[in-house]
Amino acid sequence: MDAMSANDLDCVLDGNAAAGRLQEIFVLEITTAQIQCNACSFSGAVGSLRLYAGPMGAVLRCPHCEAILMRARHTPYGRRLGMTGTRCLRF
Ligand SMILES: [Zn+2]
Repeated sequence: MDAMSANDLDCVLDGNAAAGRLQEIFVLEITTAQIQCNACSFSGAVGSLRLYAGPMGAVLRCPHCEAILMRARHTPYGRRLGMTGTRCLRF
C-alpha cells in the first residue's frame, strides 16, 4: 500500500494538473539520474546500467542482479517506457 492515501490529500485532480511537475523531470539528463533496483536495492546512475539493444528498442538491466529496470521502444502506436523493475528514479 502506498504511504499516501486519498484521505491524506486536500483534493484530487486528474493527471493534467501534474503536467508542470512531470515536465520538470522529463527534460533532465537521464544518464546521470540515480536509479534504484526494486529486486536488489542497487542504486547507481542510469548510465551504469547494462544495455541490451535490438531493433525493437532498448532493455536496461541492473548491473548487480540483471533485473530489467527499464524498457524503451518505439512502436507503431507510439513510444513506450516501462519501468516495472525500478523502485525509484532520482534526478
Ligand atoms: Zn538489481
